[in-house]
Amino acid sequence: MNLILLGPPGAGKGTQAERMSALYGIPHISTGDIFRENLKKGTELGLKAKEYMDRGELVPDEVVIGIVRERLAEPDCETGFILDGFPRTVAQADALKEMLAETGRAIDHVLNVQVPDEVVVERLTARRTCRSCGAVYHLKFNPPRVEGKCDSCGGELYVRDDDREETVRARLREYRAKTQPLIEYYRSEGLLRDVDGGASMDEVLASIRKILL
Ligand code: ADP
Ligand code: ADP
Ligand code: ZN
Repeated sequence: MNLILLGPPGAGKGTQAERMSALYGIPHISTGDIFRENLKKGTELGLKAKEYMDRGELVPDEVVIGIVRERLAEPDCETGFILDGFPRTVAQADALKEMLAETGRAIDHVLNVQVPDEVVVERLTARRTCRSCGAVYHLKFNPPRVEGKCDSCGGELYVRDDDREETVRARLREYRAKTQPLIEYYRSEGLLRDVDGGASMDEVLASIRKILL
């Protein structure tokens, strides 16, 4: 099962992708996580991506496409994958289609997770991320058992630089200008499945499972 999770920042893509990955046994591929891991290791890629991420802008297509091409060539993607945060532009979607076709693959479903802007801001300003393993929490909706500490690895929880309100607004503008056109793109290919992302985490997962039956 080859899936894409589409939706604005804060829609709950990463949260659902983690649960789906455990449920269906296919890898969760988040381009944002790949950039943050690279930044932590201090690689050139990480430093380059950070310039854009801190401004709430998209990293250039050629950088992102190369990374995804390599990741999708890994053996664990043979039985399927969940793309979270990629593609984010029409050029990325075209490149994805081509790289999958080269290996006889195609996308099965694009889950379009819909949430209003105000929910995005409420979710992102209270999001907490684990510095060690990248696990995601919310102060109100998914708090860690011990304040400031990751449930799964004990790592320190921090506020991502790009989760400050001004940057969130910039990311929403970027989403509307560059990513939203993908909704029509995939609708016209018959792949789009709308999901109400405003419901609880369990309810959202239940509606995704129904779609993927
Ligand atoms: P995305 O990957 O789309 O940016 P995340 O999965 O990181 O979104 O979720 C953004 C924030 O909202 C996190 O703090 C997460 O814990 C919280 N969250 C995710 N889904 C829900 C939900 N259905 N209801 C309430 N909060 C949620
Ligand atoms: P969120 O789901 O909260 O928007 P991500 O972790 O997916 O956050 O992305 C964080 C940042 O990483 C984006 O704002 C952007 O700068 C960069 N990024 C991630 N994926 C892509 C992509 N496919 N194309 C361009 N930039 C990306
Ligand atoms: Zn952790």
